[in-house]
Amino acid sequence: MNHLCDKLQIIGDNIVTYTQVAQRKENSVQLLAVSKRHPSSSIREAYACGQRLFGENYVQEMLEKAESLSDLAIKWHFIGSLQSNKTRRVAEVADWVHTVDRLKIAKRLSDQRPSHMPPLSICLQVNISEEENKSGILIEKLPVLAEEVAKLPHIKLRGLMVIPKAEHDFAQQCAVFAKVRQLQETLNKQLAAQNIVLDTLSMGMSGDMKAAIIEGATIVRIGTAIFGSR
Ligand SMILES: *Cc1c(COP(=O)(O)O)cnc(C)c1O
Repeated sequence: MNHLCDKLQIIGDNIVTYTQVAQRKENSVQLLAVSKRHPSSSIREAYACGQRLFGENYVQEMLEKAESLSDLAIKWHFIGSLQSNKTRRVAEVADWVHTVDRLKIAKRLSDQRPSHMPPLSICLQVNISEEENKSGILIEKLPVLAEEVAKLPHIKLRGLMVIPKAEHDFAQQCAVFAKVRQLQETLNKQLAAQNIVLDTLSMGMSGDMKAAIIEGATIVRIGTAIFGSR
């Protein structure tokens, strides 16, 4: 076992433990290994340990890595901010985009998704801590955006993604993530008429993974704890 396998094993064990503490179903939380600013060789190493989902923040960097690792069955999750002039290549390469916060981007991703590929999975990023100048849709605007995005043909609306304001108190972390879960439940009632079920909460990073899993995260995004500092 290499060094990265040990790190992945420890995080995997923690995920299992927290899932049990929360009395949630086995395997209901997936680990997204955030590999931004780490070399393709590290991704290859993590892949050899069994890791399949990798998250990248920068379009050019994801494209270069996808190219050099095209012999591997990696699922690429784009988790950075996305400009409209970069949507095409993302639609062609990624399996998921976690950071959609406006209709224009969603429309472009849907239009540009190649027809031979399955629909692109999408999360709407919510500015859950209502911070100024931060990405993410405001809560009050979420219902309308979700309704519109859900209608687009070549993307599949899967759920919500948040990056809460840094918070060290566990109970406070839980309170924010619980709010996200409630938003998901509300949206699911709203979207039931369109036969859409949001099954994904992308929340929890190295510092708040436990709280996120307790409150219902289905994808945790972990970088530093796997690959070290950037
Ligand atoms: C970098 C990043 C992460 C991983 O953060 P770590 O603190 O390194 O675990 C998760 N989510 C997003 C959106 C990121 O940009």
